Amino acid sequence: MAKIIDGKALSQKIKDELKQKVSDFEQKFGRKITLAVVLVGENPASQVYVRNKIKATEYVGMKSLSFYMPENSTEEEVSQTVLSLAKDDGVDGILVQLPLPKHINETKILNLIPADKDVDGFLAQNVGNLLLGEPCTIACTPFGVIKMLQSQNIELSGKNAVVIGRSNIVGKPMALLLLKENCTVTVCHSKTKNLSEVCKNADILVSAIGRPKFVTADMVKQDAVVIDVGINRTEQGLVGDVDFENVKEIASYISPVPGGVGPMTIAMLLENTYLCALRRNNIE
Ligand code: NAD
Repeated sequence: MAKIIDGKALSQKIKDELKQKVSDFEQKFGRKITLAVVLVGENPASQVYVRNKIKATEYVGMKSLSFYMPENSTEEEVSQTVLSLAKDDGVDGILVQLPLPKHINETKILNLIPADKDVDGFLAQNVGNLLLGEPCTIACTPFGVIKMLQSQNIELSGKNAVVIGRSNIVGKPMALLLLKENCTVTVCHSKTKNLSEVCKNADILVSAIGRPKFVTADMVKQDAVVIDVGINRTEQGLVGDVDFENVKEIASYISPVPGGVGPMTIAMLLENTYLCALRRNNIE
């Protein structure tokens, strides 16, 4: 039976450690580390995410600035908000909650965020630096997954890692991070043939697709480490991509949903905000 990787407990530990570091920063620089959050429209899931992010920001002693803009805001209005935050020296990180309403060009808005305030790690400069192995902000979710693996001292070097999903915010950076840890990485997606067989070869299996209970026990190698990034709202409540009940009998480690990668994503957002504040003050 697999050991459960408790993302909630680990995220709490990370946040509590950050509290001290954030307070040290305030002592040294005489101001609070500040994260600005921009939410456009009334998407209920986004409202919940933003609320949780703000709560966590304040928990670690950072200042949060929130900008709630109506659904019918123009691209120009959202641009002006982001540009003013970009110029504001008192702002360490800018988070534009996605998705933006359809009439607003997301890439155009995100590109107004300076790379050193890109706490989500979504900008080309950060993604490119991740690829090159240069200092950068790492996308929160895959960053959280690596921290979860490290928290259990799971040996990664030389292991076969399979990532299911190739999105820019999860699958691709996840694959790069596992490669950096010397895994042999395979990325699977909706066009992959023989997906089950590929997964069955994985020592480390990360699923980020968004299909409830898609990864079944017959796809998992005995004693594999299984990380479930998926968040799926079903009639049974929140479930991951992995058939947790059956897969946990085969895996050596498994992350649950909820209480796994989700809380880690928020903790890494705070970590990224802290790291951005340090880098902006020329401290590595
Ligand atoms: P996305 O929709 O952008 O990408 C999904 C990926 O899954 C695509 O690359 C697609 O090729 C692949 N895919 C879809 N169906 C497949 C199939 N049948 N077989 C193989 N591959 C398939 O999604 P995303 O933004 O990467 O998010 C993925 C999941 O992770 C979602 O459930 C999302 O809610 C969740 N998520 C969770 C967190 C967190 O904090 N826990 C953060 C981000 C995303």
